[in-house]
Amino acid sequence: MTDWLSDHFADLQQWLFETVVQPLVYAMGLGARVEEAFDATGWLLVGLIQIAVLVAVIGPLQRWRPVEPLTDRRAVRTDILYTLIHRLGLFRVAMFFALDPVFDELLGMARAGGWGTFHLDDVWPGVSDVPWVAFVIYLVVLDFVEYLIHRGQHRFGWWWSLHSLHHSQRQMTMWSDNRNHLLDDVLRDAIIVIVAQLIGVAPGQFIAVVAFTQLSESLQHANLRVSFGRIGERLWISPRFHRLHHSIGLGHESRGPASLGGHNFGVLLPWWDMLFRSSNFDERYDPTGIRDQVEPDARGQVRDYGSGFWSQQWRGLKRLAGRG
Ligand SMILES: [Zn+2]
Ligand SMILES: [Zn+2]
Repeated sequence: MTDWLSDHFADLQQWLFETVVQPLVYAMGLGARVEEAFDATGWLLVGLIQIAVLVAVIGPLQRWRPVEPLTDRRAVRTDILYTLIHRLGLFRVAMFFALDPVFDELLGMARAGGWGTFHLDDVWPGVSDVPWVAFVIYLVVLDFVEYLIHRGQHRFGWWWSLHSLHHSQRQMTMWSDNRNHLLDDVLRDAIIVIVAQLIGVAPGQFIAVVAFTQLSESLQHANLRVSFGRIGERLWISPRFHRLHHSIGLGHESRGPASLGGHNFGVLLPWWDMLFRSSNFDERYDPTGIRDQVEPDARGQVRDYGSGFWSQQWRGLKRLAGRG
């Protein structure tokens, strides 16, 4: 199954590269970058497949069992823009030109110091290096890292000033997953890439893990009244589970049994929330957003997180600087 998938993926990547990307790269005079462009084509293909699944599968599900009616289409259009920027690779290409030299330098230093040669899937030869077992191991480990990052985004005031942009969507849909501050994305991606390198995830496996994670995240943000049932809810994060994380007064502000506020920080697996007692399995579908958007402060004002891409990004920087 995994071989069949990766063979077909490789064929499609080759075709897309030869017919679209390669001619473009040469036309722009970037022939020296052709190898990187081939890798980028893999990500572009993943994004195209994801968008096809969103439109063909998750979209109809949203129309079948919506949690709430669509009243703010402009807010949804902004989220679509975020999704296209990310999944079609614009963000990645920008990251590549800006940060790759820095990453190469850092990883070079790590390797010189004896790091980065370890492969987690080598620990039990014959078992952990079976492709699908290795895939599961990396998926679980990286999901735990994502959980910790997400706890940090809510725990530290400066990080929340960026992550709150993600939570400010009051009209949540399958497009909302990529609605993040770009600085937050850079930080999160940097942590994930470094951990992936340290535990030795191969590039092909890394693409597969990220693609799978993103698709699941899109489903979890959908305007979809679906829960996975008593057992399913404890195995995989559902739209109900993640919506509760976005719910006003529950996901960020509430005081759970955990020492920190908030519930349902998990990305794929609800196990970390169960382990650290931050899970909430109540069958409820509340309005999403942040309390300060709806409840006026002492001066009688509610906070505006912006409605367009640039105003949201700019306001995020202002909050970070303590002026928003
Ligand atoms: Zn959050
Ligand atoms: Zn979310």
